[in-house]
Amino acid sequence: MKKSIFLFLLLNTSLAFCFDSVSVPPPSAEAVSFYRSGNILWALSRCFELIIPILILFTGFSAKIRNIARTLGRVWFFEVILYFIFYYLLLLILNLPYTYYLTYIRLKDYGLSFQTFHDWLINFVKSGWVNLGIGLLVIWIPYLLIKKSPKKWWVYTWLLSIPIMLLFQVIAPVWIDPIFNRYGPMKDKKLEQQILQLAECAGIEGSRVYEVDRSKDTKMMNAYVTGFGQTKRIVLTDTIIQGMSAKELLFVMGHEMGHYVLHHMWYGLAYFSCLALLGLYLIDKLAKSAIRKFSIKFRFTHLGDIASLPLLLVLFQAFMLLSTPLSNYVSRVMEHEADIFGLEITKDNRAAAEAFVKLQRENLAYPRPGPIYIFWRSTHPPLGQRVDFCNSYRPWVRGVPLKYAAKFNRCQSSRDPL
Ligand SMILES: [Zn+2]
Repeated sequence: MKKSIFLFLLLNTSLAFCFDSVSVPPPSAEAVSFYRSGNILWALSRCFELIIPILILFTGFSAKIRNIARTLGRVWFFEVILYFIFYYLLLLILNLPYTYYLTYIRLKDYGLSFQTFHDWLINFVKSGWVNLGIGLLVIWIPYLLIKKSPKKWWVYTWLLSIPIMLLFQVIAPVWIDPIFNRYGPMKDKKLEQQILQLAECAGIEGSRVYEVDRSKDTKMMNAYVTGFGQTKRIVLTDTIIQGMSAKELLFVMGHEMGHYVLHHMWYGLAYFSCLALLGLYLIDKLAKSAIRKFSIKFRFTHLGDIASLPLLLVLFQAFMLLSTPLSNYVSRVMEHEADIFGLEITKDNRAAAEAFVKLQRENLAYPRPGPIYIFWRSTHPPLGQRVDFCNSYRPWVRGVPLKYAAKFNRCQSSRDPL
């Protein structure tokens, strides 16, 4: 009798546990194929990024472009600008077939995009202009600094890069993002009210939540924090609003608010500033050494020659590639912190885990990638791990203090689990 009561209790306990736990679905055949082909394409992209500028340098083609730019431009400033335009267009044309496959054909093949070719082309042209415009605004700065101070240009470039990065963060949501998509207030006012209540609970004053119109092009779901200062905002795609329940969305918002409250943008900026300083120092040393060795092949003899641009860019790409595992790790740590924040503020483990399962299904994500993938490519913890964590992280049940309890002063007394 005693044994059967014990078994009954055990069964009930495990049923209760199962009820709360959400299992990670195995990836569909399509998701496996998307993951495997994605790895090959990622490796190919990294190779192209390095091989193309190296070929342009070693064939002396960069010097040829410089000669044309010099003849047409006549003065230093226009030589730099014209060289950049020619080089940019050359790369755009060389990359076109690959970009077309990666951003149009492939996404359609996997059912992730329903964009028409016309819309894809318009976006491609728009992003081409935007990138060219940004490049033209900044490209002459390091070359002017190399001209004025060939030894310390990298320090001055670094000092200037910080306000420039900040400026782009401020203007991107209001000037650049709306070129590609329509951003507006949330249509579901009841949900917006719930989100604003959650923001108040997280101590975020005057928060702004925007809905971006993506459902005409894709079913992929996304939510992110963007902007800086007055332009800082949380953006939700209309696909995530349509695809998730209110509780799931509130966890997603709790996660995004975590990024905001825990100052991840500042930490990210500080991290990239340190990385940029190291990168610029190494680029200066390695570029000068490469020019000394290969000046005959390159057909230029000093770094201040605009023909050195592919050399600077290939060293930059190589440095970024080598620092990717560290950058990914830093990003994963912040994402995990935001997950903890989202769970602690909503205390809704099931909704959180189900939100991740939906992200996995809709975005064709591979839930448990291998260590090499995580090391090189994962900016977020794998979705399988995130679901497992959502199933198990509930310190409030055991009376253990919350990690971010101090951040929830405004809501602890008034609200319990949603
Ligand atoms: Zn995040």
